Amino acid sequence: MKKVLLNEEELPKKWYNVLPDLPEPVPPPINPATKQPVNPEDLKAIFSEECIEQEISDKRFIDIPEEVRKVYAMWRPTPLVRAENLEKAIGSKAKIFYKNESVSPPGSHKPNTAVAQVYYNKREGINKLVTETGAGQWGSALSFAGAQFGAEVKVYMVRASYDQKPYRKSLMEAWGGKCFSSPTDLTEIGRKIRKEFPDTSGSLGIAISEAVEDAITHKDTKYAIGSVSNHVLLHQTVIGLEVEKQLADIDIKPTIMIGCVGGGSNFGGFFLPFLPRKLNGENIRFIAVEPKACPTLTKGLYKYDYGDTGKVTPLFKMYTLGSSFVPPAIHAGGLRYHGDSPILSLLKKLNLIEAQAYYQREVFEAGVLFARTEGILPAPETNHAIKAAIEEAKKATKDDVIVFNFSGHGHFDLAAYDAYFRGELQDYAYPEKDILKAIENLPEV
Ligand SMILES: *Cc1c(COP(=O)(O)O)cnc(C)c1O
Repeated sequence: MKKVLLNEEELPKKWYNVLPDLPEPVPPPINPATKQPVNPEDLKAIFSEECIEQEISDKRFIDIPEEVRKVYAMWRPTPLVRAENLEKAIGSKAKIFYKNESVSPPGSHKPNTAVAQVYYNKREGINKLVTETGAGQWGSALSFAGAQFGAEVKVYMVRASYDQKPYRKSLMEAWGGKCFSSPTDLTEIGRKIRKEFPDTSGSLGIAISEAVEDAITHKDTKYAIGSVSNHVLLHQTVIGLEVEKQLADIDIKPTIMIGCVGGGSNFGGFFLPFLPRKLNGENIRFIAVEPKACPTLTKGLYKYDYGDTGKVTPLFKMYTLGSSFVPPAIHAGGLRYHGDSPILSLLKKLNLIEAQAYYQREVFEAGVLFARTEGILPAPETNHAIKAAIEEAKKATKDDVIVFNFSGHGHFDLAAYDAYFRGELQDYAYPEKDILKAIENLPEV
């Protein structure tokens, strides 16, 4: 069977919360001023109350509100597809499947959480949401969700992407979102960085500082987060729960599950529902894939660090390259965050997940092979998962079943493909000495 489809009634009614199933609790976020765990009350200036509760919930399953399921039903359940042409092209003995999250209106997995966050804020009387965006995917997903529930959305977009990807901004505007090139002069931290580094290409860390400052200084505004947080991974588990059902329908068990990792939300949402199988001793591997230019899980340290460059967020225990990390603008793709989800970081520390890093040219080569065999042009981020799936397939046996998450399409990333086809993309590994330097400045806890 080429494609496993579920009908609309099979769209999950609950998300899966991994927190009660983890072998150890996730270390709590720390308030940098007091060095004490953050009081959930303090987060109310930033997040909706429902999301704060979900962040620390000990309930294994959490209801998906009917209003959210209705919006999900515009594109969910998404297809699980057997990549037979890719298998043939690389001579794979193993079966390879991909879960196609690119069929959502914004073209990625990101609306799975954007829709939930906008819904909860609206329900609590909040009509304005701010956020940051790197490659532009999250900003467009939140703008899409804003349009569904009639909320205002304002997006701080990393300057390098704002200049490289003007069409993402147009997409945000089409859905009614407002998009600004970060650092802006709309915030204190933005003005400060512009004065100190007028030529900065911006970074996700800087844009987060701006969005959080905006939320803190406006009572009618809250912040929406696109990745990293526990509640974001929770909302994304709709992906893995569907995969579970789809594989059960064809009586197949996965042995290797793969996803690309920026902050960890598409990979987390995809594999976390399968984690209990591994904890029960089943033979299954989980592989997180990142760029060598931003090697958080493969080269970072497991330490408390700020979530942003401006040091306005709490400290999170996570693999980090240091919050002063600014990736080179020549590098394409949205996997440029200095830290990682605390849940994924803990699982990596406990050796329950593996991590791999690749150069960007080999990753684009894999993406182009995928487009030529399976037909869909992947997002540069997704290419990392494809590259790892191909590498694993070369070593796999006929009993292996490789499933990877196809996090998004690359229709807005044609400038990066263009650079690749012209031979202008450069391989870049973040220098070890710069990692050591950034890590020297980690806060004491
Ligand atoms: C944002 C994005 C990612 C990386 O974010 P995660 O939170 O790690 O999933 C990966 N793929 C696509 C298509 C994205 O838009």
